[in-house]
Amino acid sequence: MSNIAVLTSGGDSPGMNAAVMAVARNAAYYGMSLIGIKRGYNGLLGRAEKPADDFIRLDLDTVLDIADLPGTWLRTARCREFLDPAMREKAARTLKELDVSGLVVIGGDGSFQGAMRLCELGIPCIGIPGTIDNDLAYTEMTLGYDTAVNVCTDAVRAIRATSRSHDRPHVVEVMGRDCGDIALSTAAATGAEIVVVPEVKWKVDDVAAQLNRQIAMGNTRATVVVAEGCWKTMAPFDVYKFLLPYGKEVYPNEPMTANRFASVLKRKCGMIEARSTVIGYTQRGCSPTARDSIFAFEAGAMAVQLLKSGVSNQVIGMKHGRTFSMPIEKALAEKHHFNRKLYNLINSL
Ligand code: ADP
Repeated sequence: MSNIAVLTSGGDSPGMNAAVMAVARNAAYYGMSLIGIKRGYNGLLGRAEKPADDFIRLDLDTVLDIADLPGTWLRTARCREFLDPAMREKAARTLKELDVSGLVVIGGDGSFQGAMRLCELGIPCIGIPGTIDNDLAYTEMTLGYDTAVNVCTDAVRAIRATSRSHDRPHVVEVMGRDCGDIALSTAAATGAEIVVVPEVKWKVDDVAAQLNRQIAMGNTRATVVVAEGCWKTMAPFDVYKFLLPYGKEVYPNEPMTANRFASVLKRKCGMIEARSTVIGYTQRGCSPTARDSIFAFEAGAMAVQLLKSGVSNQVIGMKHGRTFSMPIEKALAEKHHFNRKLYNLINSL
């Protein structure tokens, strides 16, 4: 095996560059050359005007320059065309023309599905979990999750300082798509009084009751951490009926947002002020924590070693502090374990 390739796909996550660097250093160590594919699977479909916009030879000098950069230097993208079998065959042909005999895919579950399909077409693939959401059940770590939780923890600590100054509650929305782990860890790390996640069905009135309980205990500056996906599991709530008690209109599909939620809680809890903050993309675009970088370093090394020894169709994970690999299909079939005990603890105090 003399040529391998690497791509980053799906949402970007801190640690992707560090993983590319680890793959490059290990490839160089074993005398393999490394090709970086740009913009996820798009770079394999030959749509850019110049090949240099689709792929690039990653020499050590280049990767050593990018390793500390936030984001993903190779760029990432979602590639709908890759769902089309004809397009995947084209991608496999491109890799064969480039004389690539192994591909490292850094991304989330969608990217791993793509890697599995490429394996079926004779391209050996290894996946490295890169997503801040922590929504891959088979592993205790995904690249970027620890960084995202640290960004959110810093942000919520700052918010709680000003909440304390003004004695007012605050709703903070964090990322995670359909996974509440970032919200749960952030709430636990900051001592936030209430956490709302997509894994547990909830009602606006119940959160208002929780907040009223805090106020009755003398805490007028509670923090409500909400996961971005939690609006999907909220019981139907007629905002307008509440805001305009004299009106009869019902807007069942009116979307709830952190801002609106703070305003509703303010009215339901008889408070003068309640504020909201959506932390947003700062969770994704910053430098990885040491913990994420260490995982990237180990995962990159394991990916190259697996390809070198002829292993394919596997993903790398972390369990009990150790990196391991397992078949992609089996990994994706595992069910996410939500820490309900921690959720109950946070919401009950
Ligand atoms: P993530 O990898 O972060 O979960 P996506 O779900 O958006 O992100 O998937 C990233 C890309 O992986 C998609 O844009 C597509 O190119 C590819 N992909 C996703 N699902 C499949 C699938 N079932 N078959 C082939 N490729 C897929």
